[in-house]
Amino acid sequence: MDETFKILVIDDDAVDRMAVCRALFKANLDVDLSEVDNGKTALSLLATNHYDCVFVDYLLPDFNGLELVKQLQELDVGTPLVVLTGQGDEQIAVEVMKAGAADYLAKARVSPATLARTVRSAIRLHRAEQSARTANQKLQETNDQLRYQNHELAQQRAQIESQNQELIQAYRLKSEFIATISHELRTPMNAIMGFSQLLLRQYPDPLSEQQLDMVKRIFDNSRNLLSMVNEVLDFSKIEADRLEIHPEDVQFTALVLSTVQELQPLALEKDLTLKAEFPDSLRALQLTNDPDCLRRILVNLISNAIKFTESGGITVRAQQLDPEQIEIAVQDTGIGISRDHLDIIFEPFRQADQSLTRSHAGTGLGLAITQSLVNAMQGTISVTSQKEQGSTFVVRFPIHVQQLPSRGVKSPMI
Ligand code: ADP
Repeated sequence: MDETFKILVIDDDAVDRMAVCRALFKANLDVDLSEVDNGKTALSLLATNHYDCVFVDYLLPDFNGLELVKQLQELDVGTPLVVLTGQGDEQIAVEVMKAGAADYLAKARVSPATLARTVRSAIRLHRAEQSARTANQKLQETNDQLRYQNHELAQQRAQIESQNQELIQAYRLKSEFIATISHELRTPMNAIMGFSQLLLRQYPDPLSEQQLDMVKRIFDNSRNLLSMVNEVLDFSKIEADRLEIHPEDVQFTALVLSTVQELQPLALEKDLTLKAEFPDSLRALQLTNDPDCLRRILVNLISNAIKFTESGGITVRAQQLDPEQIEIAVQDTGIGISRDHLDIIFEPFRQADQSLTRSHAGTGLGLAITQSLVNAMQGTISVTSQKEQGSTFVVRFPIHVQQLPSRGVKSPMI
């Protein structure tokens, strides 16, 4: 069924009004018609009633059409207005259209067909405008909402940035504190070790068996403690990115053999074999590397291998992979590492056994430090292991290591 259009006709001339009404009825439109003969009544009607379309005579006794259009615009009456003009009033038509009328129609052209066309197109246009306005309003609202959210996000970002700065500052202070404390601890630890070593010489007076045992324990414990303090100090340097390598000429096999020899007593204490194997071709190999860095990597891996092995032994193997790369593997026959733990053991303070009752002492920093040192040497470290069978740590690095510039303070590692 056709829609019923509610239409208001405003004209002081009863004949003209009737002509419009008659034409509207004949136009085959379903209309609900109201008529008024002056602008004032029309305004009050329009303020309280909704009409789909209004026909207004341009010349009313109390208003002209232009004023009425303007007033209705001010009242924000959402109804399309069609102004009825006299013949040849094109200038007036332009003005009323500019003021917001939906259309104009010369009275002489009023006919059922033109009225039906005008009503339909005015209503269609008006509805299109209305929905465009609604869409625009929604867009505006979304825009406002987005602007507000953007503002909130910017505030949160600023807050996070300031918290981040505070964190970096706190973190730097913590690292400095740890570095200072561990540095300060090294001096008394060295004194304890030095004096206990003097006592162990038993010169000029021999010690009783019990005294000897006690001094040995003092020496062993302080050595362990010193190595832990050194690890913490190394780690704090790595965290502050103060780790630098100083490459120089290194006689590779001599360095490996001397490190193995240095750790031989630790292996002997546990009745473990510790040996180094490499092809003769390596004996003449000169590396460009930081000898101290390379030694620390070997010490960390070999002492871990000794610590986590109860029987059997440790073998250090070296080989040249290609003209540019060398590989060292530290293999043990120890307790092994489960698959789950293989990834985490290189993280600082992570140990396969983190229980308080664990049987092996340590800070959990050795492998994190080792990995950082290997990275500084532009190398890689990997591990393969089988529970109860043993582990093999493999380090690969260039024969000629470049000195990289220090990267300054970096963000927290943990
Ligand atoms: P720490 O030795 O001080 O605990 P590390 O960072 O050197 O710390 O090693 C982390 C963990 O990796 C060790 O606690 C141990 O669980 C495991 N791990 C390292 N090396 C070996 C090894 N050779 N055999 C078995 N487990 C090992």
